[in-house]
Amino acid sequence: MLRMLVAGLLLSSAVMAQRLPSDQLGEQKLRQYAGLALDWERQYLRINTSNPPGNEIAAARWFKQVFDAEGIPSQVFEFRPGRANIIAWVRAGSAATERPLILLNHMDVVTSDPARWKTPPFSAEIIGGSVYGRGAQDMKSIGVAQLLVMVMLKREGVALNRDVIFLGTADEEVDDAGSDWMIANHPELLRNAEYLLTEGGETLAQGDAVQYVGIDTAEKSPFWIHIAAAGRPGHGSRPLPDSAPNELVRALGKLVAYRTELKILPVTEAFLAAMAPLEQGERARCFRDPRAAIHDNRCAQMIGADESLNYMFRNTVSLTMLKGSEQTNVIPGEAWANVDVRLLPGEEPQDFLALIRKVVSEPGVSVEAQQKKFRRANASRLDTPLFSAIKDVSAHYFGNAPVVPRLSSGYTENQMYRELGITCYGFNPYTATPEEGATHHGDNERIRVSEVQRGFRVLYDVVMEVSAGK
Ligand SMILES: [Zn+2]
Repeated sequence: MLRMLVAGLLLSSAVMAQRLPSDQLGEQKLRQYAGLALDWERQYLRINTSNPPGNEIAAARWFKQVFDAEGIPSQVFEFRPGRANIIAWVRAGSAATERPLILLNHMDVVTSDPARWKTPPFSAEIIGGSVYGRGAQDMKSIGVAQLLVMVMLKREGVALNRDVIFLGTADEEVDDAGSDWMIANHPELLRNAEYLLTEGGETLAQGDAVQYVGIDTAEKSPFWIHIAAAGRPGHGSRPLPDSAPNELVRALGKLVAYRTELKILPVTEAFLAAMAPLEQGERARCFRDPRAAIHDNRCAQMIGADESLNYMFRNTVSLTMLKGSEQTNVIPGEAWANVDVRLLPGEEPQDFLALIRKVVSEPGVSVEAQQKKFRRANASRLDTPLFSAIKDVSAHYFGNAPVVPRLSSGYTENQMYRELGITCYGFNPYTATPEEGATHHGDNERIRVSEVQRGFRVLYDVVMEVSAGK
């Protein structure tokens, strides 16, 4: 009898485990929330927060009126005229056993050229099953999903084991003034958090199937370098062997021929291992054992030749700006180049600068850091309940698609919040095809209506898995 009872309990808990929290809301409520998601998506996309100038205060006020109507406490910080952040809380109260989860979204968008769009960038028109608007991919739709999650937690009276915090920031696309201000002026509102979810990551759709779910757990960091050469100026008709342009070109010749060391980070190792089954032949062999691959000539060559892989394994160096004389017949006294360097997590910029000085060493050539402020690249752990929750929920929504951690070559606000000791991931609850993904910062930015009506559910289930009291 007891054995049957235990078996019955095990069975029911296994069945329960397959049902996601959102399933338990029932069809009618889910339809209502999906309707709300589309309404709010269109309202939010119509607010012009092109940065510059930003004007995020309009977006912050829009979020605030929703939070006020729903009885969710929130606060707007207008730290400069027109520039604002907003924070809102759904609290666990005395049931809190875990530290908070932050849902972070930047409210500004990049500028757009309306002449190149099918429909004005702030019209939020629906054409062919997609909502068009600047920010549809980057990242107003995620902001809407995060808003929905807050409203659902509140309306459903979910018993939470941790506070869930909504944070909308200004100025991510230009200078991160919003997050900088928040961290400098209100660290007490953020510092205690355990987790943060924001943009980054990629849930790649190919036709009806999801290819893979990439979760950004680490980002590289830009470290721009200025290389200058000085020499005797003169007339182009009387060549000077040690002129500034000649010295510069000799130095740059060494720089572009130089191969930085291949390194393997835990995130890269996990990424390749998860993707190995999708690869074939030589590539599959290299993917299966990345630690050995970096010491194997053929694998190292394959990595170096593939721009989508190369950046994960090394500090990269791209020569981007060059300047010499203004006139063909004038030998200038100075010539310079700017170099876009991207450092892996854990790298020391001063060490890399010293290395580059050694590599390019030429008389009269100087190598200096171009930036005043450097944000050290960092990474979050992969073995967390939040990562597992994203895996579980993805398996439900996205079938057999591998869920893989990624190192992003670009920069996101995650870097700033990791410095507070928070585990930060970039996760996209919406799928996008390569064509839709390419509208990020491009023309005709859009998202499918069906994704708007589902993405919030995916995020809700992830949040519930790590935040709902058991
Ligand atoms: Zn963005």
